[in-house]
Amino acid sequence: MLTLISENLIMGHIRLYDMLEKLSSRSSLEREEWHYLLAVTDAHEREILRQKAAEVAVSHFGKGVFVRGLIEISSYCRNNCNYCGIRCGNTFAERYRLTKEQILKCCHQGAALGLNTFVLQGGEDVRQNDEWIRDVVETIHHEFPEKAITLSVGERCEAAYKSFFEAGASRYLLRHETRNDAHYAQLHPSNMSSSNRRACLETLKRIGYQTGSGMMIGSPFQTTQHLVDDMMYLQELQPQMIGVGPFIPAKNTPYAHFDAGCVDLTILVVSLLRLRFPHALIPATTALVSLNPQGRLLAIQAGANVVMPNLTPTEVRDKYSIYNNKKNSGSESAQQLCLLQQSLDAIGYHIDYGRGDYTDKQ
Ligand code: SAH
Repeated sequence: MLTLISENLIMGHIRLYDMLEKLSSRSSLEREEWHYLLAVTDAHEREILRQKAAEVAVSHFGKGVFVRGLIEISSYCRNNCNYCGIRCGNTFAERYRLTKEQILKCCHQGAALGLNTFVLQGGEDVRQNDEWIRDVVETIHHEFPEKAITLSVGERCEAAYKSFFEAGASRYLLRHETRNDAHYAQLHPSNMSSSNRRACLETLKRIGYQTGSGMMIGSPFQTTQHLVDDMMYLQELQPQMIGVGPFIPAKNTPYAHFDAGCVDLTILVVSLLRLRFPHALIPATTALVSLNPQGRLLAIQAGANVVMPNLTPTEVRDKYSIYNNKKNSGSESAQQLCLLQQSLDAIGYHIDYGRGDYTDKQ
């Protein structure tokens, strides 16, 4: 009996090391291989993956972690995603939209703090239309020609994406959320589709954006097969940035009473992403930190190399409430970078104030 168990254990480890070998050769994994890795529950095996992922990150980026100033420009949204606290159907959500002047003020504050990337994220606010976004990007780019501008303002048409790019935005974040069409349809209203998301992502890449995608971990009805679909899709898309965070229920939404996603599973996914996409920019997401105060450090020690401290004006910050108890103060706040530095120090990492563009040069 005992020998059978230990034989199984050894066989299990052999499979794991085979997978690690395959990952380090940068070849694509098959569905069944992703399934095996995503289903690893043994703490020791997860630790092997985590350590290896951390090594890979350090070999490409050293112990530096890039910082991006996050400006949440509007809590209005025309979409009605079932999981999101600022869905248009949530009549209890508090709404605000920043003016161009307010956004510029945030950028000035961010620049004074030494940040070199501004991320403008918001709901799909019809008042912040394509022309308005283009104008804001152009103005920021004019005032801060050296800084990187990242947009995360949802699904737009190709002409709009092009005009933002020409105005000076060079990065775009748009999570695919889930690659599985049926699962996507469960999470979203019928006027949204997984195929349109993917079409947007392909367009963004084609235009030349450093493109970010990603998914929630533990969203309602998600199975391991869905995560396998996500990994297969990411292999195909080859995004420069990949954001994953646990699902967290948001009050007054259809999923208000679902359980949050699992921090440990999210960390496993971060490790696997780092192993498969060694050069990708992978954030330690706010959702992780919101669920677990150690979340940021756990993610960095599993290969994440970006953090996005919040630069949104403090008087409206709490209104960008995409899920319950979203963290936006302390070391999640751009005004408190010293706290972030201290917490990184404690694990032997530091803030890298560079622009942190994607590069796959060795
Ligand atoms: N409108 C933009 C920004 C959306 S908010 C866009 O569509 O890209 C950024 C991300 O937050 C989303 O892509 C989603 O993955 C995540 N998010 C939304 N609600 C969430 C929740 N309840 N729990 C965890 N993450 C959530």
